[in-house]
Amino acid sequence: MDCIFCKISNGQAPASFVYEDEYVFGIMSLDQPNPYKVLVIPRVHIENIYDLSESEAARIFQVTVKVARAIREASGCDGLNLVQSNGRAGQQEVFHFHLHLIPRFLGDDIFLKWQYTQIERDELNRMAEEIHSKARDWKYS
Ligand SMILES: [Zn+2]
Repeated sequence: MDCIFCKISNGQAPASFVYEDEYVFGIMSLDQPNPYKVLVIPRVHIENIYDLSESEAARIFQVTVKVARAIREASGCDGLNLVQSNGRAGQQEVFHFHLHLIPRFLGDDIFLKWQYTQIERDELNRMAEEIHSKARDWKYS
């Protein structure tokens, strides 16, 4: 499989590791909009959030919390964004699940921005009920 994150996990491509265990690793991102940006990645090739098991999701987020604290210590950042993209419409570029940990500094100019759009409470309630009704049938693994 021609997947850069699988190659990095297997030692077949270079990366600067900040963390690794049996299931998850963290590496310096090649894209550094602010210094100390890190990617947290499961070793198993999982394309997107929909395919994560509950235990895989838990492991990834446990490591993410530790790495976020370490980034804060190392960078002295004022804030931090987690960005995780799914599908081409979601701006996913590498189709192996990963989380971007992006340190933020007051006054930096890398705003994450979408147009704030308000809709009526009735429509919010309708969408909430629709999502909730789908979740009731979910089985966790
Ligand atoms: Zn992969």
